[in-house]
Amino acid sequence: MTRVKLLQGDITTAEVDAIVNAANEVMLGGGGVDGAIHRAAGPALLAACREVPQVSGVRCPTGEARITAAGALKARFVIHTVGPRYGIDANPAQLLADAYRSTYRLALEHGCSRLAIPAISCGVYGYPLDEAARIALGVSLEDEFNSLEMAFYLFGEEIYTIWETVLAEYKAGT
Ligand code: ADP
Repeated sequence: MTRVKLLQGDITTAEVDAIVNAANEVMLGGGGVDGAIHRAAGPALLAACREVPQVSGVRCPTGEARITAAGALKARFVIHTVGPRYGIDANPAQLLADAYRSTYRLALEHGCSRLAIPAISCGVYGYPLDEAARIALGVSLEDEFNSLEMAFYLFGEEIYTIWETVLAEYKAGT
C-alpha cells in the first residue's frame, strides 16, 4: 500500500505526471483548489480547457474526468474531475467513487503513473470528510490502479488526520 501517500500542503507545488483538479462541470476555473491550480498554471490552462468539447456549457459531467495540458505547472497533464455537491446531487457516494475511477482510468490511458490528488468534493461541495476519505482511499486501493503512485495533497491538519486514520484502518484490514 505504499503507492498511496498522504501529504499536507498545496497541490500546485507537486512535481508529477498529472495533477488532479476538483473542477466544476463548466471547467473554466472556480474557487478552492480549482482556482489555485488555474492561478499557478496560468492562462495556458484556461485555453486548454476551452478546447474541451462542451454540450450546453458542460465540459465534464459530474463523476467523469477530462485531461488537458498543464500550463506552467510541473506536470504533463491536469486531469479535471467533478465530484458531487453533497446534499444536492443524488447518489453522492457513487458519483464520488466514479470521479476517482474516471480520473485513474484516464491517467492510465495517458501513461501517467505519478498523480497528485486533492480531496475531491471536500471543500465547497461539502462532503463529510470521513466518508469522503473512505470512498477516495477505497477506490485508490483497488487492484485495477495498482500501477499508480498516488499522493493526496490534503489542505489542513483536520482533514489530514481524518484521512490518515482511514488509511491506517484500510492497511490494518478493518
Ligand atoms: P470541491 O468544490 O470539490 O469541494 P474545493 O476546491 O472547494 O473543491 O475543495 C476541495 C479540497 O481541496 C478541500 O479540502 C480544500 O481545502 C482543498 N484545497 C483548496 N486549495 C488547495 C490547494 N491549493 N491544494 C490542495 N488542496 C486544496
